[in-house]
Amino acid sequence: AKGSGKGQFTIFNNLLEAENNKRIQMMSDLRVAVDEGQFFVEYQPQVDSLNHNVTGMEALVRWSHPKHGRVSPGDFIELAEETGQIISIGSYVLEQACQDAKAWPNDLKVSVNVSGLQCLSDNFIDMVMLTLDRTGLPPSRLELEVTESAIIENIDAVNNKLKLLKQKGISIALDDFGTGFSSLSYLQQLSIDTLKIDRSFITELDSDATAERSAAIVDVILKLAKGLNLSVTIEGVETETQLEKVNLLGGYTIQGYYFSKPLPLKEVRSFITDFTMPATG
Ligand code: C2E
Ligand code: CA
Ligand code: CA
Ligand code: CA
Repeated sequence: AKGSGKGQFTIFNNLLEAENNKRIQMMSDLRVAVDEGQFFVEYQPQVDSLNHNVTGMEALVRWSHPKHGRVSPGDFIELAEETGQIISIGSYVLEQACQDAKAWPNDLKVSVNVSGLQCLSDNFIDMVMLTLDRTGLPPSRLELEVTESAIIENIDAVNNKLKLLKQKGISIALDDFGTGFSSLSYLQQLSIDTLKIDRSFITELDSDATAERSAAIVDVILKLAKGLNLSVTIEGVETETQLEKVNLLGGYTIQGYYFSKPLPLKEVRSFITDFTMPATG
């Protein structure tokens, strides 16, 4: 028994070591990825569910790894945050997004994700303003998305930055709303324009067991947003049922596979010009 215990420990240790080596390898891969141009950006359309206008695009970073192929952001953003590499990745995404959006119709916004660390970095606001200057994108066409958890960890410092960005005419969205910090008291002091309701609430709208409860939660968030004079974007609408349920609660900006998956840049323009609401019924 002693022997097998030790054997298991060795296996466990080897697994840990393998995991650790993978992390270290990924860190060093990330270090060269920006310089070598391995990142690119895809855009997911946001659609007004009432008038069916395309109102914006969320920029989502993609990593085309020389050995492993496409690595999803879920597999490297957290590590890039831990190592601080998210700051240069984030600058790259912002630059690309502003440059790309400049060529789109004037009423279209581009939304760019900003990590907490990036937002708190010393020259963040200067970097954003310089990027807008360089690309010629008006501040009113840029929305920055910050997650609840990023804000909560450092609420005063982050909120000060958000306030300044808003003064410059940039919009701020609170991403993944409802999944992070659950107290609502902080909402009244935050300098934000939009709540992005997390996909998890929308997924549940489809299942018999949870549909009613989720609809109640979404309804409360919508009322809250209205009371606070905030816009709403609903994430993760995949099915017609979900869309119908969301529409019953009012008309909102929708982002989800039902309308479109994230698109490569070259498909964005035709999406904007050709988009028609999928037939229902
Ligand atoms: P997020 O900001 O919540 O972005 C939405 C994610 O949901 C995207 O995943 C998108 O592809 C996915 N999605 C959208 N609609 C649907 C749907 O109807 N069904 C399902 N199942 N999924 C949907 P993606 O591109 O894998 O990005 C994952 C996360 O990585 C993002 O979540 C964001 O937190 C982070 N991320 C992506 N790009 C950046 C970036 O440039 N900077 C930072 N800091 N984080 C980023
Ligand atoms: Ca986002
Ligand atoms: Ca989100
Ligand atoms: Ca998310």
